[in-house]
Amino acid sequence: MSATPVYVHDLTREELRLWVVRHGFSPVHAARLWKYVYLDRVEDWAHMPDLPVGFRRAAEAGLRFTTLPVAIETHSTDGFTRKYLLALADEHRIETVLMRYTGRVTACISSQVGCAMGCVFCATGQMGYIRHLTAGEIVAQALHVDDELRAAGAGERLRNIVLMGMGEPLHNYDAVMRAVDILIDPSGLALGGKKITLSTVGVVPGIIRLADEGRPMHLAVSLHGATQAERAALVPVAKKWPLEELMDACRYYIAKQQRKIFYEWTLIAGKNDTPENAHAVGHLLKGQEAQVNLIPLNPTQGYDGTPTDREAAYRFQKILREYGLPSTVRQRRGIDIAAGCGQLAAAQ
Ligand code: SAH
Ligand code: SF4
Repeated sequence: MSATPVYVHDLTREELRLWVVRHGFSPVHAARLWKYVYLDRVEDWAHMPDLPVGFRRAAEAGLRFTTLPVAIETHSTDGFTRKYLLALADEHRIETVLMRYTGRVTACISSQVGCAMGCVFCATGQMGYIRHLTAGEIVAQALHVDDELRAAGAGERLRNIVLMGMGEPLHNYDAVMRAVDILIDPSGLALGGKKITLSTVGVVPGIIRLADEGRPMHLAVSLHGATQAERAALVPVAKKWPLEELMDACRYYIAKQQRKIFYEWTLIAGKNDTPENAHAVGHLLKGQEAQVNLIPLNPTQGYDGTPTDREAAYRFQKILREYGLPSTVRQRRGIDIAAGCGQLAAAQ
């Protein structure tokens, strides 16, 4: 028996079954444990009466639960957003956001501590890369939000996840996909059927791998510039994965997965929000199965750009429509508690 503990939330249902069988127990116990963890939300061996004592003893010796204690919780004044600063076992911290839009609750989840991609306007990028999160640390964020909803007692449950918190999910591909597999498992949280959206800065090999492997989720690609030079000025990794290669990968993904891509465009006044910029986006994406999500810039300490105003955002949208491109302007929520897109930095 290995001395290194295995974290339950790191395991897919099949892997948990294998662990249980390898330790000489019935797979029925694995199924029951999975239900305790993901449906009943029990993480205390003493409160699992349906499991035999011998199994519980072995499990307690070899298995651990990933717990993310809340260090700080903040609520936006509009009541729509809550931000949780969660403590990891090694003293690093991450942020997870609970958002309420009309009729739905969405968790915005982190995939790394910090980020290596260095986008100039992003608070996470400004803090640099610290480490990848484990699959269990990603799953535990979703469970935390679901627990909060259960505790509120209003019958709400977590239904949607956006992998748009701290970090670049495709830089941490294996852990993120393992977490997605756990989150979509039909006998667990069952967040399949496109309830999960993964946002990438444009890690080309990751997009191609995802196109080949497939997962029942949406893909969002952060664009921000429609020419190589303009994009690279905001998104430094565009030098590594140039726009042309990114567009090839996106077209490949759309063809292979038979699924549209959401492109994200942070609107920065005078920088990338002019009618010329909108026409350039139109030319670039024309004919693709695509939707553009426009995000007026949220303030961060390390970048002094200003957000595009509503009128200019609608003008941008109108031009995109001329190219047959649907778009949305993202509602600004949680800005007063620095919980908006790109504002997460695990600051206290
Ligand atoms: N690393 C991934 C996902 C996390 S960022 C990615 O970059 O896509 C989620 C979204 O927020 C991205 O589209 C990102 O470009 C955007 N974003 C980052 N900083 C922002 C800011 N200050 N204001 C508005 N959007 C921002
Ligand atoms: Fe990283 Fe995304 Fe922020 Fe860029 S926008 S620095 S990829 S988290």
